[in-house]
Amino acid sequence: MKIAKQHTPVLIVGAGPSGLMMAAQLLRNGVQPIIIDSKQGPTTQSKALAVQARSLEIYRQLGVVDTVIQNGKQGAGLIFNINDKEQARLPINNIGEGQTPFPYVLVYQQYKNERVLLDYLTQNCCPVYWETSLETVTETAGKATVTLVSSGEKTTLTCNWLIGADGAHSVVRKQAGIPFNGDTYPRTFYLADLNLNTSLGDYIDLYLSKDGFAAIFPMPEDKRYRLIGNLPDTLADKEDITVEDILPGMEQVTGAKQQVTECHWLTTYKLHHRMADKFRSGRSFLIGDAAHVHSPVGGQGMNTGLQDAYNLAWKLAGVVKGQFNELILDSYADERMPVAKRLLNTTDTAFNIIMKRNIFVNFFKSHMMPGLLKFLWAREGLKKEFFKILSQTGISYRDSKLNMHLGRGSKIKAGDRLPYLKIFDEKKQTETDLHQWCAQPGFTFIAMGKIAEMDLFSLAKWINQTYPQLLNFYYLPLSSKNQHVFDAFEITSPQPRTILVRPDMHIGLINDGINTDIIRNYMDNVVEVLSRES
Ligand SMILES: Cc1cc2nc3c(=O)[nH]c(=O)nc-3n(C[C@H](O)[C@H](O)[C@H](O)COP(=O)(O)OP(=O)(O)OC[C@H]3O[C@@H](n4cnc5c(N)ncnc54)[C@H](O)[C@@H]3O)c2cc1C
Repeated sequence: MKIAKQHTPVLIVGAGPSGLMMAAQLLRNGVQPIIIDSKQGPTTQSKALAVQARSLEIYRQLGVVDTVIQNGKQGAGLIFNINDKEQARLPINNIGEGQTPFPYVLVYQQYKNERVLLDYLTQNCCPVYWETSLETVTETAGKATVTLVSSGEKTTLTCNWLIGADGAHSVVRKQAGIPFNGDTYPRTFYLADLNLNTSLGDYIDLYLSKDGFAAIFPMPEDKRYRLIGNLPDTLADKEDITVEDILPGMEQVTGAKQQVTECHWLTTYKLHHRMADKFRSGRSFLIGDAAHVHSPVGGQGMNTGLQDAYNLAWKLAGVVKGQFNELILDSYADERMPVAKRLLNTTDTAFNIIMKRNIFVNFFKSHMMPGLLKFLWAREGLKKEFFKILSQTGISYRDSKLNMHLGRGSKIKAGDRLPYLKIFDEKKQTETDLHQWCAQPGFTFIAMGKIAEMDLFSLAKWINQTYPQLLNFYYLPLSSKNQHVFDAFEITSPQPRTILVRPDMHIGLINDGINTDIIRNYMDNVVEVLSRES
């Protein structure tokens, strides 16, 4: 399929998870992008397995979460083995109870994520132009001109904004001259998605031994497992590695023989930890693996790319539609670069503990780590904190310039993800939750506490007239059924409290009281709304 247009407001390069999420979020926010990919069509490779709770929350807002959950499988937990002996069993099912509608890790292969997002694009009349590669980018005032190659034919296209979702070897990043600093880990790893003749249970089995490491991940399909490990030195120079090559090493580390009935995917790969110096240069933005790559410890890679897209898309959509000042786009790198930096550090540390083989680290792994893990796992508070990190629900942008915190409370602050709190909607007399109130595109203004009916009416009218379609309005009156919400926001007096939630479900403004000047100040001077209509 050929691109008929000569200009597009947004060109997305790469239809992996990050690029597809970017397109889906732009569409949700009313902007039609063009998305291209050099591949022939959607991938069938499983790649990333873990979908974290924060990504499921985004899927819920997009209206596709039911399909995702139906075809995935909840992770049960991790068994930590040293020299093929079980040392600690760490269950993770429902460890995030009360923190999110999805208090677990969902095993759901990357290609399935891509399919769900592709379907969303199709339903919104946004095709992916496959077999179309970006070659060059030239920026002039107000636009970027790109050359694309499709079926051996070169074409040019102009765009106002270019999204580099084109993976670790990003052409967008290279064309923008952005360094991608970091390193490549020396060892080679194997990955095999296999059907076995027996069921090994629902836990991830992690094995550490003097010969290296191996792990077995249950996949959603019956008796299907992913086996990963370090390639034995004896195979380092061998080309075309087969399942028969890797099984002896695997058996040595795990102490068990596996009967393989079918191999779905086998690959060897090196791991990298690198991050782009900038996530933006002029009209080009980097998201996902184009911006950061790291070891897959903790299943964070794909999820981080999805959330880069989620963070950038609503801001860019607002700029494209002439609603926001372009300056809001700077907040993308300000908010997401610290997240990526932290992720690289934690995954690097975890990976080094697993892989390092010196005498001290070995002693720590075999004699101290199992006890330490059991000790930590017995503490509910620590498990809760661990889930916040793993699920990415704990990511906060408290230092962002898009915040105004005018409240006395200190537990929840502007910049935090909107907590998941169940509520009783007095108006509709139904159970719902705060996230559900933020299901529509745009900002959501929530007033909590005791407000006289006339004041409420005037406020709703003012919001409708001042920010039509840009600001949704909800009211949560004081009631015993919703006391826990008031407790969470540390509301002790009858004085109303207001919060303004960004389209990506992070709190932008918290105020002790209701003041339309403050709402206007936030929207006009912090977000810098130019046009008040959607
Ligand atoms: C073997 C393997 C196993 C993995 N396992 C895990 C895991 O268990 N957990 C985890 O979290 N992550 C894992 N990952 C990483 C995860 O797959 C990535 O983090 C994720 O794919 C990043 O998504 P992305 O959309 O940013 O980039 P990609 O998925 O790399 O997508 C980039 C897209 O851009 C296209 N493209 C590239 N250049 C151009 C161009 N010039 N023009 C047009 N299109 C272009 C490519 O064809 C590709 O479709 C694994 C990766 C691999 C390779």
